[in-house]
Amino acid sequence: MKRKMEIKGIARDTLYFILEASRSTLPVEFAGLLRAEDGVITEVIMLPGTESSSKSALVRLYMLPNMRIAGSVHSHPSSNIRPSSADLIFFSKTGDYHIIAGLPFDERSWTCYDRTGSQRDLPVLDVDVEEDEDWFD
Ligand SMILES: [Zn+2]
Repeated sequence: MKRKMEIKGIARDTLYFILEASRSTLPVEFAGLLRAEDGVITEVIMLPGTESSSKSALVRLYMLPNMRIAGSVHSHPSSNIRPSSADLIFFSKTGDYHIIAGLPFDERSWTCYDRTGSQRDLPVLDVDVEEDEDWFD
């Protein structure tokens, strides 16, 4: 049962978390899955025991049991944030919002792609992630 999810953006706190996690896992690739609440990406799911091999991180995420996710996030330990061919295969199978963060992991060094690898807008929203879910109204 896959429902089409409309994503309005990503919570600023969640983006900061991603950038911080990307920095702190260097030189290893950081990878996770994105979940959205009320159309806003507010959650990053990291798998325990992610290996230090950057090549395997996304492959292992793909083995996850079926769950509703908005997309994925991973870091590149360089300033090249174009999706690799392996990234594109992964994108096509898992959600429609895929963030790649690159060095230096600041607010401008990331891009969101759709499932075909085309760049797409992902507004950064100032929302309180801990607040109850009625904030949007
Ligand atoms: Zn990649």
